[in-house]
Amino acid sequence: MEELDRIPISDLKGIGPGRAQQFASQGIKTVSDLLEYYPRQYLDERTRTAISDIQPGTDVLIRARLISEPKNFHKGRFTITNARAADETGQLALVWFNQPFMVKNLKAGEIYLFRGRVKQNYSRLQLVSPEVRKAENSLPGLVPVYPLGGGLTQKVVFSATGQALDKLEPDQDMLPPIYRQDMLPYDEAVRAMHRPETFSQVEKGRERLVFDELMIQQLALRRVRAQRQKDNKGVVIRPDLSKVRVMEESLPYSLTDAQKRTLDEILKDLASDRAMSRLVQGDVGSGKTIVAFLAAYAAYLCGYQTALMAPTEVLAKQHLESAQKLLAPAGMKVALLTGSVSGKDRQSVLEGLASGSIDFVIGTHALISDPVVFHDPGLVITDEQHRFGVRQRLALSEKGAMTNVLVMTATPIPRTLAMILYGDMDISIIDQMPPGRTPVRTFSVDTSYEPRLYAFMRKQVRAGRQVYIICPMVEESAGQEDADTSEPYMELDSEEKEEKSENAKLPLRPAVQYRDFLQKEVFPDLTVGLLHGKMKPKEKEAVMEAFALGHVQILVSTTVVEVGVNVPNATLMVVENAERFGLAQLHQLRGRVGRGSAESFCVLVSDSHSVLTRKRLKTLCDSTDGFYIAEEDLHLRGAGDVFGLRQHGLPDFKLADLYRDTGILHKAQQLAETIMEADPDLNQLEHRKIRLRLDQFMDRAVTEG
Ligand code: ADP
Ligand code: MG
Repeated sequence: MEELDRIPISDLKGIGPGRAQQFASQGIKTVSDLLEYYPRQYLDERTRTAISDIQPGTDVLIRARLISEPKNFHKGRFTITNARAADETGQLALVWFNQPFMVKNLKAGEIYLFRGRVKQNYSRLQLVSPEVRKAENSLPGLVPVYPLGGGLTQKVVFSATGQALDKLEPDQDMLPPIYRQDMLPYDEAVRAMHRPETFSQVEKGRERLVFDELMIQQLALRRVRAQRQKDNKGVVIRPDLSKVRVMEESLPYSLTDAQKRTLDEILKDLASDRAMSRLVQGDVGSGKTIVAFLAAYAAYLCGYQTALMAPTEVLAKQHLESAQKLLAPAGMKVALLTGSVSGKDRQSVLEGLASGSIDFVIGTHALISDPVVFHDPGLVITDEQHRFGVRQRLALSEKGAMTNVLVMTATPIPRTLAMILYGDMDISIIDQMPPGRTPVRTFSVDTSYEPRLYAFMRKQVRAGRQVYIICPMVEESAGQEDADTSEPYMELDSEEKEEKSENAKLPLRPAVQYRDFLQKEVFPDLTVGLLHGKMKPKEKEAVMEAFALGHVQILVSTTVVEVGVNVPNATLMVVENAERFGLAQLHQLRGRVGRGSAESFCVLVSDSHSVLTRKRLKTLCDSTDGFYIAEEDLHLRGAGDVFGLRQHGLPDFKLADLYRDTGILHKAQQLAETIMEADPDLNQLEHRKIRLRLDQFMDRAVTEG
């Protein structure tokens, strides 16, 4: 491995500086990069269909001559490319969406292999966005189709990967045979990916390579954990538990069993001489904050300071207020440190932290980015941390900068994914809501329902309640806030393709204009507020505050309200263009209502007819269980799209599919465990290659993190 890693692809025949540049644009610099450039799919030339035999709704491979020059048409945001092909049995229309370059790639008169799905278009059949390959000299087995990009062609990549495969040798396998068991050796697996004869070979090759990917990732997480534990001995927090109980008892409510269990787990971690590293997962409103405060109190009882990092200033202030109410009477000194705390105030907080007179500091990222010095740091809590991924943790732990760490997240993460994302941490789950909450009733409607919706909003306001309206974009002229339409269509499967193209036709409701409209035309007697990410922090805060105080009855906002703001009086959330949002994201948004005792509602507005969109919205209407919803999201859309996971630092696996490969993940995890137990530093000779791979992986994680 390590050798192929050092051979630049320009050493291969037919790759001059220009081609090397094209490869580099796709992240391929060395022969080993090239071997990891796996085909996106395979054409099976033995199972061709004659044009006269094709059926709508099926995937076919045809061998046909292009009989017209392909032409581009523009329709709204789409480029449509049309062409016709013919074989001995008939003719067929071909169409591509948003692949204008097809015009350059294809020539009338040439014979090609086309593979794609047949659709009925009125009375005609057409092949939609088919894969294309020149029908030159065909191979005995399957033909690999590479993802391309950067000007590369199938032919160039095919020749390059062929040469790279020639350099592969059996002794490059990082797994000794006993670990490999019934899996293919590495070189055979790579060969099976690039030059398979059958689909079952591809499967076997893929299995082995997915295993490698997942095992290295699991080893990395374990190494991070081991490192952290080695670097951080000594901060033992063993408070008088009866005092913690007294504090618990002083609360106006009793903790749920799930909160108690989580608190116990935290207290055990703190009492041990290993640094705590724990993730607390709990749906919005499950009561994570109080658990964190009690942990901070435990630290205080032992003379240690706690820092709590919130994602926004507003949230930091809310936390500060509740912390002061609860903890100040017990003698704890609580302070705020955010970007807007400046001058003398800032100076005094910094001094208080350095001298130890401040016990608990609550703030934003300013807490870690500034050179804040603590007198007796004991516990770091990050709340609602969407942006603190494995990579950042790897980087941080490399710096040895972590002490007892508690991460709290309201993003429900399916179990499998939690293993991938937080394999270096212990996990507590608060899977129970405080009593007396009525689940938010959720409805899915289309825009024809609007008049009734306005009446309903008015009714809520008349009852003294408040309303959120979420829009997918800030302004008409501006770009969208979630720029999720840039994905290449060809990467998606056909159901998703259909959803995307169906949904892309729907007009988007901009927050700025919609708010003006509502204020002037619908609710002139009420105050309709506006909140979006392009406003200055001060403006945002002022609006949030006005809403929290009830001065604003209806708040039109983009997704910036998503993160943890608490306005219990808000009982209705309307989401415009609900088709634009991920399932788990909608769930997260919905968590902004239903925080008080009054019955709350969420109305998802969408004119989408896409089957997939309908399914997703229905899931939300049917369930309020975040973990279930996240599982469904994973199921319907795949790991990459589950809300928050990108921000959580979902690793970019080349092959592994976290939904499909759960079985392999478990195997990889077990082996990682066995290896680390037997040889934590991977010093044994048979682990040498594994160590090299792991070192490479970690280096990359740290430099790219
Ligand atoms: P989240 O998990 O979303 O951070 P919070 O900690 O903000 O949830 O809690 C939401 C609300 O529930 C707060 O107003 C809090 O005071 C209240 N709460 C927390 N735990 C309980 C409990 N066991 N019983 C009743 N109310 C609770
Ligand atoms: Mg919270």
